Amino acid sequence: MDYTGNLESELKELKNTFNTGITKQESWRRSQLKALLSLLEEKEGDILKALEQDLGKHRVESFRDEVGPLIKSVNYALKWLKQWMSSKKADLPVAAFPSRAELVPEPLGVILVISCWNFPFGVSLEPLIGAIAAGNTVVLKPSELAPASSSVLANTIHTYLDNKAIKVIQGGPSIGEKLLQQKWDKIFFTGSAKVARIVMTAAAINLTPVAVELGGKCPAIVDSLSSSWDKEIATKRILAAKFGTCAGQACIAIDYILVEKKFSTTLVKLLKAYILSMFGEIPKESVGRIINKNHCSRLRKLLDEPSVKATIVHGGSYDEDALFMEPTLLVDPPLKSEIMTEEIFGPLLPIITVEKIEDSIEFIKSRPRALAIYAFTNNETLKKKLASETSSGSVIFNDAIIQYIADSLPFGGVGESGFGRYHGKFSFDMFTHEKPVARRSFLTDFWFRYPPWNDQKLQI
Ligand code: NAD
Repeated sequence: MDYTGNLESELKELKNTFNTGITKQESWRRSQLKALLSLLEEKEGDILKALEQDLGKHRVESFRDEVGPLIKSVNYALKWLKQWMSSKKADLPVAAFPSRAELVPEPLGVILVISCWNFPFGVSLEPLIGAIAAGNTVVLKPSELAPASSSVLANTIHTYLDNKAIKVIQGGPSIGEKLLQQKWDKIFFTGSAKVARIVMTAAAINLTPVAVELGGKCPAIVDSLSSSWDKEIATKRILAAKFGTCAGQACIAIDYILVEKKFSTTLVKLLKAYILSMFGEIPKESVGRIINKNHCSRLRKLLDEPSVKATIVHGGSYDEDALFMEPTLLVDPPLKSEIMTEEIFGPLLPIITVEKIEDSIEFIKSRPRALAIYAFTNNETLKKKLASETSSGSVIFNDAIIQYIADSLPFGGVGESGFGRYHGKFSFDMFTHEKPVARRSFLTDFWFRYPPWNDQKLQI
C-alpha cells in the first residue's frame, strides 16, 4: 500500500527524536536490536510466507538467505555494540605535547534506506541493524515489487521498534522521489545503477553522503579440476548459488562461467546431472519464481535472440503466466548479445569457453568491475594472479555467495558495482562519523610556531 501520510511531519518527528539524544544511548540501541531479534523470531512464519508469495522461495531457502543471516547479524551487533561505541585513543604529533586525542563515534542523524525486492528482508534489515547500532533514526522504503514482504516490514516494524525513531514508508518510484527531495544525513541505496544515478543526483543538492549497493555481471572461473570430488563439490556450489538462490535474481549470483574449451563438455555434463538431482524432473516446483511478468519477458527476450537460442544446451523453457524460467545452460552465446552485456538476474547461465584458463583473467579485466569474482581452482598461481590483477567487490575461491553471511568481511562493490561497505562492524561504520576530539594542555608552548616569521624559526 502506497504511503499517504505527511512526510514532512514524520521526518520532523525523526529529527526531534534524534535531537533528544535518546538514540545515542547504548540502552536504546540495545533495546531496538533486541526488539528486531524478537520480530525475526516471532514473525518468522509471516516472513517465510511473504517470501513464498513474492518470490516462490522455499522456506528453507528463505531461512538460509534471510531470516538466519539476519538473526546472526543482530546477535553479532549486540555482542560487539559496547566495543564499537567506545572511543579509540589516537596519537598527536610531538609539536602538540602534552596532549591526548580520541576518535569518538557519533551517529549521523536521520538515515534513508531504499531497498530492492530480491532479498526484501536482508537488504532492508541489514542496513537497519547498522543504522540502529550506530544510534541513528531511520526511514526504510522497501521495494514495491515484493508487496507481501514490504507489508510485513511495515506492519511489524512499527509494533516492535520505536516508532518515533524508525519508520517504514511503502511505495514505488514516485514515493522514492518524494523521499529523495527531503534532506537526509545519509542515503543507503540498494538497487539498479539507473536509479542509483537518480539517488546521487538528488543527494548532490544537499551534499548528502550516499552508499550505493549495485549489481553487475559476476563471473565464475571453473578450472579443469582433477579430482572427481572437487568437480562435484564445485558443480553443486555453482548450481546452489545460481539456480538455488532466488532463481539467480541475486546481485552476487554467478552471472556466467569461464571454462577451458577442453573441460567444457565434462562441466556441462556435470551441471546437467546435478540440475536434475537438485531441482528434479519438474523444476517448476522447486526453483524460485521470477519477480514479475516484466522481468520474465526481459529474460525471455535474452533467450529469444536466435544467435543466443542456438547455444542453449539445457533448459530454455518458460511459462510467463506462472513466472517460471527453467534453469538454462548456454555454451558460447555471442559476446555482443545482451545476455553477455547486461546483468542477467535470472536462471540463465552462459558458459564461455577459453583456450587456456589464464585467458579468463584478461576476459574479466576487459569488462566492468564486478561485485564478486568466483574461481573454482586448486591452481595457486592462478589464484594469485586473479586476486592481484583484477578488481571487484570481492574474490571468492571454491565457493560462491558465502561472503554475504560473513560479519568479518565488508560487503559492497567497486566501480560500476557500487560503493560503500557494510555488514558486521562495517555496517556500524557506514552510519557513524568518527569524530576526532583532541585535548591540549596549557603546560608547555613553542614560541617558533607563532608569527612574526623569521628564518631563525626554520632552524629549530
Ligand atoms: P531498482 O533500482 O529498480 O529499485 C530499487 C529501489 O529504488 C526500489 O525500492 C524502488 O522503488 C526505488 N526506486 C525506483 N525508482 C526510483 C526513483 N525514481 N526514485 C527513488 N527511488 C526509486 O532496482 P531493483 O530492480 O529493485 O533491483 C535490482 C538491482 O539491484 C540489480 O541490479 C541487483 O544486482 C541490485 N542488487 C544489489 C544488491 C547489493 O547488495 N549490491 C543486492 C540486491 C540487488
